[in-house]
Amino acid sequence: NLSSDHLAIRTTCAYCGVGCGVQATPKGDGTATISGDTLHPANRGRLCVKGSALGETLGLEGRLLYPQVRGEDGLRRVSWDAALDQVAGQWRSIIAEHGPQAVALYVSGQLLTEDYYVANKLMKGYVGSANIDTNSRLCMSSAVAGYKRAFGEDLVPLCYDDLELADLVVLVGSNTAWCHPILFQRILRAKEQRPEMKLVVIDPRRTATCELADLHLPVKAGTDVWLFNGLLSYLARIGAMDPAFVEQHTNGLTAALETANIDCADPAAVARICRIDPALLLEFYELYAATAKTITAYSMGVNQSSAGTDKVNAIINCHLIGGRIGQPGMGPFSITGQPNAMGGREVGGLANMLAAHMDLENPEHRDVVQTFWDAPVMADSGGLKAVDLFKAIEEGSIKAVWVIGTNPVVSMPDADQVRRALSRCELVVASDIMQHTDTNEYADVLLPALGWGEKDGTVTNSERRISRQRAFLPAPGEALADWKILSLFAQRMGYSGFDFRSAHGVFAEHARLSGFRNTAADVPRMFDISGLAGLNAREYDDMEPTQWPVRRLASGQLEVEERLFADRQFATADGKARFVPTATRAPVNAVSEDFPLVLNTGRVRDQWHTMTRTGKAPTLADHTAESFVDIHPQDALLHGVREGELARISSEWGAMVARVQHGGGIPRGSVFIPIHWNNQTASDARVGALVNPEVDPVSGEPEFKHTPVRIEQF
Ligand code: SF4
Repeated sequence: NLSSDHLAIRTTCAYCGVGCGVQATPKGDGTATISGDTLHPANRGRLCVKGSALGETLGLEGRLLYPQVRGEDGLRRVSWDAALDQVAGQWRSIIAEHGPQAVALYVSGQLLTEDYYVANKLMKGYVGSANIDTNSRLCMSSAVAGYKRAFGEDLVPLCYDDLELADLVVLVGSNTAWCHPILFQRILRAKEQRPEMKLVVIDPRRTATCELADLHLPVKAGTDVWLFNGLLSYLARIGAMDPAFVEQHTNGLTAALETANIDCADPAAVARICRIDPALLLEFYELYAATAKTITAYSMGVNQSSAGTDKVNAIINCHLIGGRIGQPGMGPFSITGQPNAMGGREVGGLANMLAAHMDLENPEHRDVVQTFWDAPVMADSGGLKAVDLFKAIEEGSIKAVWVIGTNPVVSMPDADQVRRALSRCELVVASDIMQHTDTNEYADVLLPALGWGEKDGTVTNSERRISRQRAFLPAPGEALADWKILSLFAQRMGYSGFDFRSAHGVFAEHARLSGFRNTAADVPRMFDISGLAGLNAREYDDMEPTQWPVRRLASGQLEVEERLFADRQFATADGKARFVPTATRAPVNAVSEDFPLVLNTGRVRDQWHTMTRTGKAPTLADHTAESFVDIHPQDALLHGVREGELARISSEWGAMVARVQHGGGIPRGSVFIPIHWNNQTASDARVGALVNPEVDPVSGEPEFKHTPVRIEQF
């Protein structure tokens, strides 16, 4: 796909869920000049500093280029045949002896949809186990669970343009300015043009996102359900409702209100629990009640919690009571972290989902997928979610794990447990683009995968827009696409149905499945991209960024639905949205004398995940050179640590060392440590080692935002 100058290739940024369009112009030396794609609706030509530095991450330094197998003398290079034969041989004998639940895949929101589709098909339809989970479990599974409970399907009901149409944008648990910069710039630009537009930020930290906010509510960590239950109660009490919408299009308001009124009916009591000024709380409630066009956008501060799903539903309840959904400029908007977390959701990449938004526990859905795949055996119940999956590996019930495109020894909670699990596992396979990662140290087999700029396929961003990632560099060494590696492996396992020749072939099958018997199952699914199933290879290559649902009309024209629920029809059996009662509960682990501070984790502006890519870009290192622990100056004094010096931070689960800093807007009683640094950059640098492994009971998402810790001089 060449632009008018016949040099630049249009592709998509490899980082966050905003999914910005990128123009990459190869320079002929393995690098490329990067600029924003002016035709992409997500960013209209703009890129943030991470996207702009993509070209600096392209060199082959440190790349994993050949398959390797660990022997007594360490890793040695082998052929693809030898590596895949070994893995298939061991998987076959483990499955024969211990059953299909004894093997697992742990994959990534960095994968392209085509890779994800093949991984999911392999495990759920051929191995016959749902033990495939993804690092997206750590990022947005609470949002998925909340949408499913409220709407019957994992449906993000609005798009980025709505953020510019809203009169009130409420950002909850989201440092959008740093983590989704282009979206934040779009909000700010809209606010400049319409100064009457209001921005409210709800976050325990005073982050960069708060700088231009009209209101910042620095709530105590973990109190979001109180805040939004209080809002629901307030809206009902003052009559700020849409009774016709509630009556005709929803169920369950009475039960949700009864639950909210138990301890959130009095705003003064809510303000006390949330530890904010009651006048500030009331100002927010009044603003919300008075503004029809309201968007509540939320991110990891909501999702990464042992009450994450309830937080999501408490937010959605407030939208439903006033009918603030399905119209321009309003709705509850989950902003995903990774570039293809949404694509993973579409293909069923989570252990409790089936492909094409179908349910693993639903026999009719299983029959649809099994028939379509002509699969010999189908998983019939949910597999182990990330935290439980690594526990099962340590306990020995899972004997082989294949980690694809992610670095769990750094990124998982209780990361030392993951290290123990991998060191005891009978067979650890890792597919990666880099030779040295904390996880690869435990791999028995290393498989070289294609990286950004080399691979070809699609990603879906936070607004349900499918965009092409296109290759503009040759494959280095013997690296292969992940869908190809998995297909070659499946063929060695003796499975039919994996004769894929190209990413286009995989995408076409995925698109066909989304429309297969879509009206025959109990409720038609809104995830439907069957309109794209008939694209030929050229049309797939040229595909413009497209939102789903997208169906083909009898006339041959494509029909795209940009805003879901405009017809007030939800994906439930009776077509109505559901209020979900959300009882308040505190984070699982409270601070104690031994661990008196709350650890909050997150990103810095210029790094991505565990730095395997962004760590290569000198421009990005300029912003934050090393890991740090941000602490309030008075807490630093109290705990005997000094700005600029190293400190040891420990929890019940592990410890790390970081440099003390002030100025990150952290409230008293908390510390903030970024997630990126790893033991390849410095020893004892993994914050994951400290994080408690508590999870939300519905979504299985870990509580990254609330671990009791102590800090002392190093
Ligand atoms: Fe890439 Fe996200 Fe930045 Fe856009 S906002 S350029 S997708 S990192």
